[in-house]
Amino acid sequence: MPGLMTGIHHMTAIAGDPQRNLDFYAGVLGLRLVKLTVNFDVPNTYHFYYGDEVGRPGTIVTFFPWPHMRRGRVGAGQFTATALSIPPGALDYWRRRLETHGVQCTGPTERFEETVLAFDDPDGLPLELVAHQGAEERPGWPEGPVPAEMAIRGIYGISAISLAPERTARVLTELLGLRELARGDGRVRYVAGQGGSGVILDLIEPQETTPGIEGTGTVHHLALRVPDDDAQRRVHHEVAEYGFRVTPVLDRQYFRSIYFREPGGLLFEIATDPPGFTVDEPAERLGSELRLPPWLEPRREELTRQLPPLRLPATR
Ligand code: ZN
Repeated sequence: MPGLMTGIHHMTAIAGDPQRNLDFYAGVLGLRLVKLTVNFDVPNTYHFYYGDEVGRPGTIVTFFPWPHMRRGRVGAGQFTATALSIPPGALDYWRRRLETHGVQCTGPTERFEETVLAFDDPDGLPLELVAHQGAEERPGWPEGPVPAEMAIRGIYGISAISLAPERTARVLTELLGLRELARGDGRVRYVAGQGGSGVILDLIEPQETTPGIEGTGTVHHLALRVPDDDAQRRVHHEVAEYGFRVTPVLDRQYFRSIYFREPGGLLFEIATDPPGFTVDEPAERLGSELRLPPWLEPRREELTRQLPPLRLPATR
């Protein structure tokens, strides 16, 4: 299906303590909390969305904070490290900022044409800051605690370890329409569309294939983006034809989604660009209060009682 998938829409991971997650992503990394809502499938738990100013597709990282969930293990059958884009001149700033906040970094190291600083979030989720040419073409969130010129510019790409690398490679190219761009450093790099940031998927050639265990500090799924409902319907059809079980279209309020798991263990979502995060609150108020979809609004009082209180990030 060449051309249908235009890149990464968002990455969703499992976190432990909600406040600690907020303090790290909005506080230390300086992303904007663009939506404070609940997990639509488990509505007495939160769902946090972070991104750029309006949470454009390709800048969104989201978390299910589940304080009572066991710690996971990153391994085969999972998306592993999420890479975020920064301008080349911001690398030193970030190394110092992470150190100041007690975050241990590995690197900077060179990989393909880019420089990579690797670290874990407070739950052990692997993250990378990738300094590369062209990062500054995308806007960051200029009103967080990080100076605008240093701000993170969305997702650069994501790595994965497959339990069945050859079959996953076929799914990426034959079904999802990605193409192989490069090989080296123990990874094969795939891109969607024209390539560039926000569209990279690296399949790691694993040294060992210990399966990952789902839990806090692991990626739950990766969402690829389609421009509209029509493209999504076509992908849905193709995925079913390919022989995979795929969910019906689900209304996620800010986008519409289908999900399927491929034979290498990776859970993919295909999400529409519209309607976006300003569908239920204006851009300047994004993330400032708990938003519920219409079908959960009647339960607001009950849910608010069950959800732990939060200190929301200050805006300047
Ligand atoms: Zn998702």
